[in-house]
Formats: sequence, C-alpha cells, structure tokens
Amino acid sequence: MYSYDYEAVVYDGEIYCVDCLPEGVDIDDPEVMPIFADSEWNHVPVCSVCGTEHDYVTIIREEYTATTIQPRFQQAHPTDIAAEAHIESRYFLLGWDDSPHNMGYYLEWRYEDDDPDNENSYDDAAIDGPQGSPDWTQIAKIVNGVLGGY
Ligand SMILES: [Zn+2]
Repeated sequence: MYSYDYEAVVYDGEIYCVDCLPEGVDIDDPEVMPIFADSEWNHVPVCSVCGTEHDYVTIIREEYTATTIQPRFQQAHPTDIAAEAHIESRYFLLGWDDSPHNMGYYLEWRYEDDDPDNENSYDDAAIDGPQGSPDWTQIAKIVNGVLGGY
C-alpha cells in the first residue's frame, strides 16, 4: 500500500470500512476522514459495523513500565497463582514457587488460544523480588519482549 492509500475512515468519531459507511454518507463528505496507510495508531482500528481489523496502518506498540504493567495483572487464586493478565493475544501468569530450592516468583505466558493444560504451551522466566513485591520492572521488560516478538 502507498502511504496515501486507505481502506478505512473515521466519521462522527467512529471507524468504518469505506463500504460500511452509513447510508447517504460517502468518502466525499467533508466529515469523513481517511485513515491513511502511514498513519500511526497504538491499537488496530476496528470497523464499528463489521468488525474488520484494519491492520494496514502503522501500529506503535505501547511499551509497558513497572507502573503501567502492574495494574494489568489481576489477583487470581490466592494460593499458587499470584496474579494473571490478558494482554493482546497472550495470557501471563505470575506465580510464587515455595519449593525450598527454587523459592521465588516466576512468570509464565502462552498464547490465549493455546491449550492451558499443555505444559508445552508455556514459556517462563524467574522474577526477582521477595514475596509480596515482585520486580515489576523486570516483568514489564519481559512482557514488552514477548509482545514485540523478540
Ligand atoms: Zn466494516
């Protein structure tokens, strides 16, 4: 696609495919604003009518920090799983291992669609920090890396 190409537009605060615009409104309407291919978004624009994801735009991924990642994790089961998060297409689980030789936090993650009962679905990393205060900076870095695909 060229930078001035587009398949979706913004009209009246909503995102539409060109073909999904309300009746009587077309791309020549001055209130219809094209979403050009070189425009930058921090999430994929989704058509409010048909749900098409217009991923032809440039996606600027949000980089998590210790401050912004922590609220994404919800406390789960108070026993073995400390907290869990659903971010984009991934499921993250923050656990606490209290076996004597391996005591500490660990982070596991998998694709949402992968079998939760299959161990091979998961990757994992050890997380620093005493019980009650995991190293959120480290967790943010791992999440950024997983979502960025490196
Ligand atoms: Zn549509």
